[in-house]
Amino acid sequence: MPSRQPAAPATGVAAPATVLQLLTDAYPDARVELDATNPLELLMAIVLSAQTTDERVNQVTPELFATYRTAADYVAADPADLERILGPVGFYRQKTKAVQAVAAALVERFDGEVPTAVDDLVSIPWVGRKSAHLLIVGMFGGSALAVDTHVKRLAKRLGWSAQADVGKVETEVAALFDESDLGRLTLTAILHGRRVCTARKPACGDCVLAAECPSAGTAA
Ligand code: SF4
Repeated sequence: MPSRQPAAPATGVAAPATVLQLLTDAYPDARVELDATNPLELLMAIVLSAQTTDERVNQVTPELFATYRTAADYVAADPADLERILGPVGFYRQKTKAVQAVAAALVERFDGEVPTAVDDLVSIPWVGRKSAHLLIVGMFGGSALAVDTHVKRLAKRLGWSAQADVGKVETEVAALFDESDLGRLTLTAILHGRRVCTARKPACGDCVLAAECPSAGTAA
């Protein structure tokens, strides 16, 4: 089957290939910033990262991962022990329930292993397409677009998608790229959104995309 050709961008929007090259040059070592050494660890870290920073998650995961090494370990855990470890990430009661629900699904339906297919991943509680795609990019060496708040904001400012729905943003942005480039786009765009194209006061004066970006100097 012939590979899909990226759609031509409309006029007045940033050229996708140019943006990706500039981002790649700016962040040549871009990676998922959640610390993890295996799929289960990254899946749990991604679940914990909701409504908090990667830095906070990275503070608690050394003890978490040392204590609970398998999905069955999480299922068997005393919730009070998990709540104590997860305290610093906030919403620790809810997140204790989340990691145990994720682990239970892995044990019951996937022999305790983290599946590699998106359809399987999104069938797990607390795991949506963004999380599934981030796992695939970060741990399985695949290429997929994970639309988090940074990617969504950057896509809007670059003129790639003004959709409010992240699923529609994913569809519109992914259509502009070869599928094999989506993982690199995900990793670099997340970093750029965190470090330069921030929600408030984006640093357009220091931005490598400024010459391409239709929002340069106007975004806030
Ligand atoms: S020029 Fe400004 S609005 Fe455009 S991507 Fe860069 S920081 Fe964001």
